[in-house]
Amino acid sequence: MTSRTRKRLLLVLTVVLLLASLGWNSFRAAPLPAPPAFAGELPPASPPADMALVHLPTGITRRSAGFAYRGGDFADRRDFTMSAVLVRHPRGDVLIDTGFGRDIAAHFRQMPLYFRATTRYEAAEPAADQLDASGYARERLRGILLTHAHWDHVSGVPDFAGTPVLVPAEERAFIKEGGSLTAVARGFADVVYEEYRFDGGPYLGFPASHDLYGDGSIVVVPAFGHTPGSVVVFVTLPGDRRLAFLGDLVWQLEGISERAERAWLLRMLADADADGVRENLLRVAAIAARFPEMALVPAHDARSFAALPRL
Ligand SMILES: [Zn+2]
Repeated sequence: MTSRTRKRLLLVLTVVLLLASLGWNSFRAAPLPAPPAFAGELPPASPPADMALVHLPTGITRRSAGFAYRGGDFADRRDFTMSAVLVRHPRGDVLIDTGFGRDIAAHFRQMPLYFRATTRYEAAEPAADQLDASGYARERLRGILLTHAHWDHVSGVPDFAGTPVLVPAEERAFIKEGGSLTAVARGFADVVYEEYRFDGGPYLGFPASHDLYGDGSIVVVPAFGHTPGSVVVFVTLPGDRRLAFLGDLVWQLEGISERAERAWLLRMLADADADGVRENLLRVAAIAARFPEMALVPAHDARSFAALPRL
């Protein structure tokens, strides 16, 4: 080996070690600075008396706290929920995400190799089958409200043929142009997308909102970052029971309670805009501190879903 080759080899090795240590360091706890206190009040809502919601679990992926957020323990195994939530409303029911659908095996095969190599999933009964088995009348379903268009949130969309999929323009564009991360959604034929705009005013610290039925019961806010059109869905049930469906803003509750973002490596792989995620994570942390009675539901936290009624 010439001395030039040796020097090059040493340089490559140094860079690799540096990157490895940087990557590893980013898994260590580093809580984001506390946001300014949220001083606003809960927005008014008048949910119809017969409004309700049910959790439709459709499977899991096997992960760990260390994977989910900075400072989490890799020995702390966490089964990530893959779920749909049916919100019943007299003006039309809404499905928040779909979880795994009937063709989940084919959808999983469309994911990139690195992802498949590091992901173990178990499918349960798809949401459509659960609803059909219970005698649910499909015509009650007004639409599928996506928190975002990643594979594990949209896999069940084709099982609801003809049901509109509600997304902001930013997420619709991401489905069209999002590369491998939205290959599954892009592959669906005949999906009817309905784009909505954030035509309402500020809501709980978010700059704009979209009130689906105008009664404050289902309010969507832009929480762009994890994907270009990610949203948080606030649901208010009778009795002023408040829930916030966070999508993948954080993967586990500690993301909010410990203000712990994803590790650098996961931010690079999973988030379109890590700064956006951070900003919205802190918004939710501020709301959570002010209104501890609000139920926070990260899309993959089994503890949040355990508290929701089942079909
Ligand atoms: Zn996601």
